[in-house]
Amino acid sequence: MRNYKGLIVEACKEMIGEELVKGTWGNVSIRESNRIFITPSGYSYEKMEEQDICVIDFDGKTLEGDRTPSSEWKMHVAIYNARDDVDVILHTHPLYSSIASVTLDNVPSLIEDCAMICGPKIKIAEYGDPGSWQLAKNAVNALDTNGAVILKNHGLVNVGKRFSEAFTGAKVTEKNVQVYIEALKLGREISYIPDDKLQMLRKVYKERYLQ
Ligand SMILES: [Zn+2]
Repeated sequence: MRNYKGLIVEACKEMIGEELVKGTWGNVSIRESNRIFITPSGYSYEKMEEQDICVIDFDGKTLEGDRTPSSEWKMHVAIYNARDDVDVILHTHPLYSSIASVTLDNVPSLIEDCAMICGPKIKIAEYGDPGSWQLAKNAVNALDTNGAVILKNHGLVNVGKRFSEAFTGAKVTEKNVQVYIEALKLGREISYIPDDKLQMLRKVYKERYLQ
């Protein structure tokens, strides 16, 4: 069996290094059949070790670990239930995605890498109370078949089959949102990728990636 706990610990250190989160916010999980490996609630990423990672079932019951699982476990469960093609979820609070979460309804994919890894646009999910099933449902709806969703007044969620996909997704999403917000500030006409190209880029990525 792969060392999922080790992978999550590594991911936590990378989230801090990439400034995708501040403090103990955000969370990471991996699905392995009917179990979810997930970061604990409110625990320092710097101090995080393999023994701190929680293993839960799809009802949120702890199967392994002494710590309390992330308070957003319901969102992770809801996304895994809705998406067979997702085995990793990364939830972060990067700056530009957070700005988009309080000002926009969606962010178009303006750069090709974002169109490929995230989809044609990143939608902003309706607000839901932290840790609630409503938030989980809103996230699933706005995520749709995409690789990323922004949670209103909150942060960013990236999903993938592997860690590398969710991580690259988070960095690429944040960059694309930054590009969009800075481009809006210039007040010049923005060059959008045409709809058919957006669909094609996503399709090519999915086919290549899932091979
Ligand atoms: Zn959060």
